[in-house]
Amino acid sequence: MNRRISKITEKILNGHLPDRQEIEYLFSLGDENFDDLLYCANQIREKFFGKKIKVCSIIPARLGGCSQDCKFCAQSAGYDTAYKDVKTLSDEEILDAARKAKEKGLTNFGIVYSGKTISEKELIRLEKLIPKIKNEIGINVCGGFGIINYEQALRLKKAGLSRYNHNLETSRNHFKNIVTTHDYDSRVETVKAAKKAGLGLCTGGIFGIGETDKDRIDMAMLIRELGVDMVPMNFLSPIKGTPLADTPVMQPREILRLIALYRFILPKVHIKAAGGRVLNLRDMQSWIFYAGTTSIISGDKYLTTAGRAVEDDLRMIKDLGLEAELV
Ligand code: SF4
Repeated sequence: MNRRISKITEKILNGHLPDRQEIEYLFSLGDENFDDLLYCANQIREKFFGKKIKVCSIIPARLGGCSQDCKFCAQSAGYDTAYKDVKTLSDEEILDAARKAKEKGLTNFGIVYSGKTISEKELIRLEKLIPKIKNEIGINVCGGFGIINYEQALRLKKAGLSRYNHNLETSRNHFKNIVTTHDYDSRVETVKAAKKAGLGLCTGGIFGIGETDKDRIDMAMLIRELGVDMVPMNFLSPIKGTPLADTPVMQPREILRLIALYRFILPKVHIKAAGGRVLNLRDMQSWIFYAGTTSIISGDKYLTTAGRAVEDDLRMIKDLGLEAELV
């Protein structure tokens, strides 16, 4: 075992956070330290989360037709993909999906909208819908509706929303290479507004979009500073028609290494394996927990890319001796 990794791990297990220098050291390690990194990340996960794994589901209540130009996204109306046009689900379709998620034993139901933000009309709709899902169906409701201000966040909180999903996507420095239709500050301000309104924060990013390790560290440090409680990690599945269509995908070991490194930086924060998990990890699915993951998004489809059946994920968690967290 690499002695410096063990020392940093011990510090974390004793309740302290690693500093930037220690984090940079961990990122500098080569593949020969892969096993040590994962072993220690697993220890950190066990110490702070035990055997519990949060399983979330997500439904795109508004899919596609987005005015924004995020280069990785199939939902931008500016790219020639199957999601160029907007598709909106009815209340009944959303309630039905929530009922199905509950029946499968899932704890969190996430409603997400494509687009830069939401209108007043949509906010009023959500204020009626969220309490129905939460109280009548009995499942926690999370949501991501784009850039919002404090007043909008407060209204969502009052309606019963548990967590707001708003990703930083990448570092401040790399963001301008990926998105030009809105700025990084509007993302950070949305996260702060949601936090101030008392919402939990589901804030992470997407990897494999040309970012460097420095970008990955910068984003993780900002996430730490913002007091996020759940960090979705998405791994690019290049979509035909988008500017990143020909980007090489991340290899399974690289993804697992990155999950482990995020576990070191954010020891007490849920790390969620999200988009691209199934496509990019292939047969190494179950390793995500050993790398430090404490949450997954489950379901046949993850927005515009392939997902995995809830039954398969729940069985995987059980087979590993872990426990899916039920309401
Ligand atoms: S990531 Fe969100 S804001 Fe960006 S293009 Fe896709 S749906 Fe629109």
